[in-house]
Formats: sequence, C-alpha cells, structure tokens
Amino acid sequence: MTEITDQKLSQIWLEARDDLKSLIGEKSFKTWLSKLGIVSFDDGILKLSAPSNFIRDNALSRFSDMIIRIVSSYGCAVKSLRMEVYDNNNPETIAKSEKNDEAKSISVLDKKRFTFKNFVVGKSNEFAYAAALKVAESETPSFNPLFLYGGVGLGKTHLMHAIAWRIMEVRPEKKVIYVSAERFMYLFIKSLRFKDTVSFKEMFRNVDVLMIDDVQFIGGKDTTQEEFFHTFNDLVDNNRQVVLSADKSPSDLEGVEDRLKSRLGWGLVADVHPTTYELRLGILQSKAKMYKINIPIPEEVLEFLAVKITSNIRELEGALNRIVAHVILVGKPITIDVAQEILSDLLRANERLITIEIIQRKVCEFYSVKLSDLNSPKRHKELTTARQVAMYLCKELTTKSLPEIGRKFGGRDHTTVIHAVRKVKENMQKDSTFAADLEILIKSFAN
Ligand code: ADP
Ligand code: MG
Repeated sequence: MTEITDQKLSQIWLEARDDLKSLIGEKSFKTWLSKLGIVSFDDGILKLSAPSNFIRDNALSRFSDMIIRIVSSYGCAVKSLRMEVYDNNNPETIAKSEKNDEAKSISVLDKKRFTFKNFVVGKSNEFAYAAALKVAESETPSFNPLFLYGGVGLGKTHLMHAIAWRIMEVRPEKKVIYVSAERFMYLFIKSLRFKDTVSFKEMFRNVDVLMIDDVQFIGGKDTTQEEFFHTFNDLVDNNRQVVLSADKSPSDLEGVEDRLKSRLGWGLVADVHPTTYELRLGILQSKAKMYKINIPIPEEVLEFLAVKITSNIRELEGALNRIVAHVILVGKPITIDVAQEILSDLLRANERLITIEIIQRKVCEFYSVKLSDLNSPKRHKELTTARQVAMYLCKELTTKSLPEIGRKFGGRDHTTVIHAVRKVKENMQKDSTFAADLEILIKSFAN
C-alpha cells in the first residue's frame, strides 16, 4: 500500500470513529470500538485490529454493518470487514493502531456529515428531502411509513441519518433506532437461535422512530419477512414512525409477499432520482468547502468531475477525496490534467456513458450538420467548427487517445485533433457566445 492511501485511510478511520461514537453513544463506543485500529483496505476488504478476542467478537457481531456503512460513505467501498487481534509483539500492527492519534493533526473533514444541513438539494432529491425533513420535525407521524427508494449512492442513507440527527437535537427524549435490513435479519435469526425472541420484539417495538435501511435484502427470507411485517404493523398501529429505504419501489421489491408490498406503499413513497449535472456540481462545491485546506480546488476541476463522474454521489465524493489528498500532499493547486491522471480508473469506469459516437451525434444535432459530412474531408466554416468542437469534447469527455479520436473522424491525423483542441480553447477565450454554446453542449452530456 502506498503512503497516500495509508494516510488517507487513517484520516477516514478517524472520521468514521467520530461518526460511530455519535451514533452508538460515548459509552458503547468506549467499550467496544475505541481500541480498534485500522490496518488496511485492499480489494474491498477492510481490516481492523482489536486488542482482544472478546472485543473483536463483540465489535464484529454488534457493529460490523455500521462500520462498513460508515467507512464506505467516506469513499472506499467496503465489501467485507475483517478484524485481527493484534499481536503485542508486532510493532507494525501497534503502530497502525496508534496512527489514529497521529492522524488527528491532519484531519480535514468537518464532523456530523450525514445531516440535513450537509445534504445538497436539487431537482432529483427535493421531494425525498422534504419528506424526510417533515418526518424529522413532526411530533406525530405525518405519513407512515416513509419509503425512500432509489439507486445506489444517491443519498438514502444520508437522509435517514439526517432524520436521526435532527430528532436527537429537537426531541432527545425520543427513542430512534436505525438498522440495516441485514442487521435486522441477523438479530432476528440470532434471537431465534438463542430462543430469545421476546427481547428482540421488545427492542424494536418500543421505539418512537424505527428506520430500516435497504429493505430489499428482506426479500425471500420468509420468517424474517413475517417478523418484519408484524413489527411494522405493531409500530404503525401504535402511531410510531417507520422509515424504510430500498433500491426499488415497494411494488418492485423481489421476493416480498404481496400483502407486505402493498402495506409498504401505504404511507408516502418518495424516490431519489439519478443526479443532474447541477446537483453534482453543487455537492462538489459544498464538500470542497468542508475541507479545511489552504489551497482551493479550482472551479474548473470541480466542473470536470461533475461532468465525468455521473454514476453516483459516493463515487463523486471518493474522487474529490482523492483530489484533496493529493493537494494536501503535493501542496500545489491542482489542474484538470493532474486530476485526470489521479482518477484514471474512476474515469474509465464512468466513461462508457460517453462515447465518441454519442459526441458526434449530439454535436451534429446542435450545429445542424450531417454526420456523414462531419467525417468527410469537406471544410466549410460551420462544418469545421462542429468538427473541432466534437474533437475537443472527445478529448475532454472520454479517455480516448488523440490518434484514436482522429481515426474516428474520417481517418484524420492526431495533429488535427491537437489543432482542433487548441482552436476551441482560443475561441472560448475570444467569443463568449461560443463559450456559452459549448457549456450547454457539455452539460447535455452530463445528465
Ligand atoms: P445510498 O444510501 O442511497 O446508497 P448514501 O446516503 O450512502 O447513498 O450516499 C452516498 C454518499 O453520497 C454519502 O457520503 C452521502 O453523504 C453523499 N450524498 C448523497 N446525496 C447527497 C446530497 N444530496 N448532498 C450531499 N451529499 C450527498
Ligand atoms: Mg444506503
């Protein structure tokens, strides 16, 4: 593992510890999690160290989901969590667990990330946001359940945590439980095994607000579904608020009984749509401000990220985190070229969305020229402009090489592409209408 990832990892762990502490309370944190150290993060496997078998076993069974979720939210997608008991004779594991303190001095993120204040609202999520806020601020349930659904990394968990934070602030006497559906199932199955379903029921049925995240995982598990259904009905009948999230709408959930599906849709169903360019840029601007670094990230780099990383917000944050880590280490302002280099793997993964062909088609539409002409030797003014713009966009929006781009434009040479890119940059400086047109075009790729 490189220096950068090690340092970044310690930072992430430090932030995650704070989140965990706030979620589970000072006392539990001190008992179970405070002595865990971070060892490595490789291939989606997060390795932590624990001081004893006892702490390891308890921390794993009680808090794995939460740890995975929280660490993932800082930009490294954790697939599984391992914990090793550190060997007091091994200086390396000890050093790594002590690094947490050292990392304190380079910590750059603000605390309490998953709050309403930190949630950037745009067209794609305003409804879900308003619904979540309403739930958090109402004394009695306004709609029950609130069912949030949408694709991965679009802010569902963020909104649920935000509800929890807000309630803790304004009505601290309320009992709020947030669990992932996996954990809910795990606890249920464990209670069956230990013949202790009574306390399981007690735990969930005595809450004011129950939030279960990612309920699509309940699909197909009949007994847990049954228990879930009863818990759910009990709470709703007793006028307690239930908030659920899933990657699909209630009616589209697979392996879920019809009566449960229909019951889930009784309250308010709010979906979080895929992001727009504006929202992505807004999120980047807001997150960039949260980093306490002296060297600002240029606006054009943020715009570049907003155009290029369209899959989800988690990846977008991951990209920004890497950029910030680079800026901290190098101590110099960052350029688009450097950003492109640092993020090449992420960019490649997002790239399939924008191809040379798509760019050509859109540019032809925009300038009302024919695709066959664009790739022909013809060179009247309109056509040349369109061609140069298309080449420029291929250079900016894909990671194709210059010769490859040239070839796709009727077998032109890479020097023609270089010339086109230069020309477009010049024109943008000189001609504000041209620049504005280009901006519209770029944004049209981003959605
Ligand atoms: P989901 O639960 O839908 O998979 P998350 O809530 O875990 O997604 O969001 C992924 C990451 O993106 C989190 O770090 C979250 O803070 C961030 N995020 C998502 N939506 C927004 C938003 N509108 N404003 C700010 N950050 C957001
Ligand atoms: Mg989630």
